[in-house]
Amino acid sequence: MFISEAFSGDHIPLSFEIFPPKGELPLDEAKTLLGQLAQFDPAFVSVTYSAGGSGNDAATAQIAEIGTQEYGLTTMAHLTCMGATHQSMQETLDQFKERGVQNVLALRGDPSPTKQIEDFAFASDLIPVVRKAGFCVGAAAYPEGHVDCLDLQVDIEHLKAKQDAGAQFLVTQLFFENRIAYDFLERCRAARIRIPISFGIMPIMSKDQVSRMVFLCGASLPSTLVKLIAKWEDDEESLQKAGLEYAIGQIEDLAKNGVDGIHLYTMNKPEVARQVCEAVADKL
Ligand code: FAD
Repeated sequence: MFISEAFSGDHIPLSFEIFPPKGELPLDEAKTLLGQLAQFDPAFVSVTYSAGGSGNDAATAQIAEIGTQEYGLTTMAHLTCMGATHQSMQETLDQFKERGVQNVLALRGDPSPTKQIEDFAFASDLIPVVRKAGFCVGAAAYPEGHVDCLDLQVDIEHLKAKQDAGAQFLVTQLFFENRIAYDFLERCRAARIRIPISFGIMPIMSKDQVSRMVFLCGASLPSTLVKLIAKWEDDEESLQKAGLEYAIGQIEDLAKNGVDGIHLYTMNKPEVARQVCEAVADKL
């Protein structure tokens, strides 16, 4: 199924993000994970592509294929174009096709010592190529602005360019304060960005994870959350419980405000997905 259709139903679609498991048997682990996530009937499951420079991009399409073939899930493969040439991209898209991938989150990715810009400078250069190849295409959005772009309004203009290039929906970076999402949504609509926007929520699991996220993606931390982390920093179980409750509160509020979609960063933890789904099932 094309994900663009998921936004036209009566309910707010709740989707999950996973990453290819590391280690010796990534596909076996992914199968178990997909099987567990399928029980919660997500609108779709997206699979990252070498996120955080992990280099494990080969498994992305395979995992998306397993999700669809073995568990009947609608899946989306992430795809980055940093370091890609037109030819290498065509080969990757052919491999995606062979694996039955229908939905792609088209991203630029981050430069690394081994990957610099080749034929694609921005995601907006990749999007038309992926669309032309017949995929349903989503793109990334940043409610607080992308870390490389200091002016949010300019970043939103770049986001509009992704819509103009053919993106059919957007999935956002995580954020910890819903006010940021509502301001962003208003700015997007004012900039004539009309495609559906699914808002990314990540429950906090540890102080280190939050520090990493804040540093990597520039997400700001509201004082409520800082206080929660300070209170439970030496008690991981209580911190996770409080983090999950906080994330569920964010989702309930987003649902009440009628957002287009909610994308849960599961961190490959089915238990997180289960608790969120049980708490919000009748609110979406
Ligand atoms: P772009 O849209 O190209 O934007 C990158 C920067 O360039 C921004 O600062 C933008 O403002 C600027 N820009 C855009 N167009 C122009 C222009 N014409 N002129 C000047 N500046 C411009 N990374 C991975 O490696 N693998 C993943 O699986 C992955 N999944 C992600 C999923 C989501 C939902 C999100 C939000 C991010 C994900 N990322 C992933 C991270 C992403 O690759 C990085 O944030 C990357 O730095 C930017 O990718 P982009 O597609 O948003 O880039």
